[in-house]
Order: sequence, then C-alpha cells, then structure tokens
Amino acid sequence: MDRQLIAGDAGALAQLMRGAGSVVALTGAGISVPSGIPDFRTPGTGIWENVDPMEVAHIDAWRANPERFWSFYGERFQTLGDKRPNGAHLALAQLERRGLLDAVITQNIDMLHRRAGTRELIEVHGSIATCSCRSCGQRVASAVVLAQLRDAAVPLCGCGQPRKPDVVLFGEFLSAAALERATQLAAGADLLLCIGTFAGGLSGRAASGDHAAPRGRRRDRHAGPDAVRRSRGRPARR
Ligand SMILES: [Zn+2]
Repeated sequence: MDRQLIAGDAGALAQLMRGAGSVVALTGAGISVPSGIPDFRTPGTGIWENVDPMEVAHIDAWRANPERFWSFYGERFQTLGDKRPNGAHLALAQLERRGLLDAVITQNIDMLHRRAGTRELIEVHGSIATCSCRSCGQRVASAVVLAQLRDAAVPLCGCGQPRKPDVVLFGEFLSAAALERATQLAAGADLLLCIGTFAGGLSGRAASGDHAAPRGRRRDRHAGPDAVRRSRGRPARR
C-alpha cells in the first residue's frame, strides 16, 4: 500500500477524481460543524461532553425513561431543524449533478446532505426526518413530533406508544440494507473521499478495504487528509 498525502492540494484531488471511474464520499460529524452543529467528542463543545449518551441516546433509555430521552432528543431535533447545508454539502451535491460523484454515505442524521440536494444518499445512522412507532409501525414526519412536544413530554403514537426517532440509537443495529449498500459502494469505488470523519468508524472500515474490496485492488494514494484512491486502471469517467 502506497499512500501519498496531498493535503490541501485541490488540483491533485481534482485530477484523482477525473481519473477515477467511481467516486464515493463518506462523511461524518465534522462536515456539519461549519453549519453550527457540534460534533460528539470535541472537548468543550462535543455533544457527549456534557451528557452521558447511555442515559439519553441509548435504546434502553428510550424504553426505560422516554421522558428523559425525549427531553434530550426534542431539543436536539429543535437545534438541528433550522440548520442549513454549508459549502461542503453543496459542493458534494454539485459534484453529483456533474456526474463526478456516485454517492454520499453519511454517518450524520442531520439531513443536511438531503437539503443540499444529494440524491444518492445512504444515511447509515438514519436521520431526523421521521419518527416511527415500534408497536404499530406508523411513521410520521419529525415536524409532527415537534408539534406534539410543545404540549407533551413524550410524543405518543395514535396507538398510545411512545414514538422513536428513525435514527440508530446506541444499542441498536445499523440498518442491514443501508450497511450493505454502503459497503457495496465503498468496495466498488476507485476513490473514497472521507470528509469530516476519522478512520475509526465506517469510513475506516470502508477505506481500509479489509472487508469487501475485490482482489487486485489496492490503495495507492492518499489525497488530502481524507481521500483514498482504491485502484488504478479503470476507464476514466470522461
Ligand atoms: Zn403506534
């Protein structure tokens, strides 16, 4: 494996993108920080700096104490609701429109890629767009839940059970379908753009190529802190 760091060299990145047959972006919390959304673990501002995720964002917390869960999540929904995509989200959407990017795989639940206009989007941790009922399966837009939270501590489904945000909570499995699609895309990509995330999570697994990369491929270039070229020799896109 031959990695070459070309951080900050947009020209080199553009060249890599032009030469790649398939380009996929993996994004994490860092891409949304300029939109005013704090990441999780940055000292001082990280969401989990001041609150224990196991107490407010774990599936067991939702089951055991929906009031506490929703007092945290209601606020989070409110905070995320008015955020706007920043230049990085918009640039990825534009690259897709221009045929230079195949898909965005994101760990973020903030909907900013959707709002930016990305069409091929895999939200592996779900999103705040909707909430569902675990008992009867009814799904509603989060706006409905926010309206409910004005009058009630816990938004209830028509069947009487607490609603749950359609995000993957701690203690829950990722959606098998989303994970499979993400894995397929990452494994098939010549170039992975890892943006606002770190090599420990999904992006690390995908970028390391240790799970599903076809034989004969190798990572041979590291473009920017976060771009990983997976192979050479595929026909250029144009
Ligand atoms: Zn229900």
